Amino acid sequence: MSTPADCLFCKIIAGEIPADIVAETELSVAFRDINPQAPTHVLVVPRLHQPDIGSLAAADPGSAVALLADVRAVARAEGFEDNYRLVFNTGADAQQTVFHCHAHVFAGREFGWPPG
Ligand code: 5GP
Ligand code: ZN
Repeated sequence: MSTPADCLFCKIIAGEIPADIVAETELSVAFRDINPQAPTHVLVVPRLHQPDIGSLAAADPGSAVALLADVRAVARAEGFEDNYRLVFNTGADAQQTVFHCHAHVFAGREFGWPPG
């Protein structure tokens, strides 16, 4: 498991690695995915280092709830308040590659179901 010292998203939050930041709150940072999978593809990341949304909710419920409000604010700012897909890949089998909790906010195209 990543620790803050070697965590990519902790480094983006700290400003040590550049990112296209679209929003910041006391509890989260939102920035554009470097490899976007939709016209809007923003990652909303809690400042608190936890590996996934479940562990964030257990460790700091307020931060987990705030993350959802921040997701909505990002979707609204992008012009897709009522039409976006929210994804939390959780675990390697679900294609999680960065083990700092992050919400993927996708919008701007039609989406299929079931997900791949
Ligand atoms: P996961 O696969 O863990 O759910 O999502 C990690 C996401 O982080 C991927 O969509 C990937 O494109 C994105 N990513 C990886 N490295 C960087 C980076 O250095 N900057 C930004 N902005 N996104 C990144
Ligand atoms: Zn981290």
